[in-house]
Amino acid sequence: MGCGLHVRPHTNADYCSVLRSELIAIDMALDFVLEHQLFGEIWILSDSRSVVQHFDNWRDGDRKDQTALARLSSGHLKPLRFSRGDKQFNICTKCNMIEATPQHLLDCLALVYDDLLKRPYLLLEMMKEYDLMDLI
Ligand SMILES: [Zn+2]
Repeated sequence: MGCGLHVRPHTNADYCSVLRSELIAIDMALDFVLEHQLFGEIWILSDSRSVVQHFDNWRDGDRKDQTALARLSSGHLKPLRFSRGDKQFNICTKCNMIEATPQHLLDCLALVYDDLLKRPYLLLEMMKEYDLMDLI
């Protein structure tokens, strides 16, 4: 017995990467599977290595990822510099313009705080895709 689910990605908005659309589509499919309790074997077919990697991490529940999520939600990022008593963040390596505060990292990826809670692995995948993990 099996169940096939085909999810067509949404039209991509300019700020929305193909990877993100694909992850959201798969996320929605998994939500559907869980909601309808269609347990059994789940096959995720994708030609994107990042997507496969994403679900590898999802399954393993990588501890480093958990730490990154905790830092992002608490606002305490790792490489803080202090200058004359002021907190300073490193410059965001994606846009190279703005300090990489937790809020900016979300903004820069067109994500919202809610994504941190509801789609943490999507968020982590985006951070990795843009090499932002070192900033967290
Ligand atoms: Zn940025």
